[in-house]
Amino acid sequence: MVRSGRRTIDPLIITPDAVRDLLPMGACIDAVRSALAELAAGRGLQPLRPIMWLPEHIGALGLMPGYLESIGLMGVKTISVFPGNAGTNHDSHQGTVMLFDHRNGTLLAIIDATEITAVRTAAASAVATELLARPDASVLAILGSGVQARSHITAMTQVRPIQEARVWSRNTVNAERLAGSAGAEHPGLDIRVVASPAEAVAGAQLVCTTTATTEPILTGDLLEPGMHINAVGASVPFARELDGPAMARATLFVDRRESTLNESGDFLLARDEGFVDDDHIVAELGDVLIGNHPGRQRDDEITVFKSLGLAVEDLAAGSVVYQNARTAGVGTSLAIGGLRHA
Ligand code: NDP
Repeated sequence: MVRSGRRTIDPLIITPDAVRDLLPMGACIDAVRSALAELAAGRGLQPLRPIMWLPEHIGALGLMPGYLESIGLMGVKTISVFPGNAGTNHDSHQGTVMLFDHRNGTLLAIIDATEITAVRTAAASAVATELLARPDASVLAILGSGVQARSHITAMTQVRPIQEARVWSRNTVNAERLAGSAGAEHPGLDIRVVASPAEAVAGAQLVCTTTATTEPILTGDLLEPGMHINAVGASVPFARELDGPAMARATLFVDRRESTLNESGDFLLARDEGFVDDDHIVAELGDVLIGNHPGRQRDDEITVFKSLGLAVEDLAAGSVVYQNARTAGVGTSLAIGGLRHA
């Protein structure tokens, strides 16, 4: 394309509705699994993300760059996080994932990040669940009722034979709403709302904590032998969903060791209180994927996957969206430059 003497490249703009159609959970699980293995094998880049907080922590803007050799992409997610948006018309996570060609730096796509975040986070938990949960896990506890709670029900049913799901949320109306919509999406799943985290997790083999709480909702006394927990909320140093005893009772796996040591309140606050030390992190998921750690070692072991969210997950998911968009002819192209003057 030539405009005013300047040749441009035309990156594809991909909207939230399109992402919903172009990023099936199963494909995203496969992509995230590959990305985590590749990162562990040293064929990806994943620097610690800078996060700019607004005064009094009302919201934040995060910049998440990453690179994956196998898909030939580098990229960055820009994401605003406003926990107070829950219950309003605004999503609590908003932004874009931008994909660039690794050979020449050309901008290829600008994709809505809200939908990618919803799916890729649950996909990472699905990979953790494949590796760490008991194969026969059939009772699922979901703490929280927002975006992540919903995507986690979808993801967990893809990787374990879930028959029963219990949903607890601070606001019962929201829990009822989630149970209604998830029940319609997953016919055959026995899904019900319960009154407390204790009631949700009693007898569950699989637990997903997906809340924006800053104080623990899952305490050590509630954990049972053989349980696997995907700890998804609390991605900042001052918030936690699990208390110190819960962290201490579990074998701890993480998405990225460096991120955990810098960003995870679940881990850092437990360490400050003396419940755990840095050696408590036994492995990254990628280490398990490439055979450097065996993962779960006993049926009665309690495992926690502490998820913080990685740029390579966004990149992997974004790549699926981009490839599917090109195949389906979906998306709007925008001429915004990139080639030298003619
Ligand atoms: P939503 O805004 O959609 O939902 C927030 C949920 O948190 C609601 O279920 C709400 O419950 C619950 N909640 C809020 N405050 C409290 C509280 N004080 N005590 C108990 N529950 C509370 O957010 P998302 O689902 O998008 O995100 C959920 C969490 O996951 C956030 O902390 C977010 O930052 C984190 N996250 C982590 C990612 C990762 O990669 N690890 C990626 C994306 C998000 P109710 O409605 O009943 O009040």
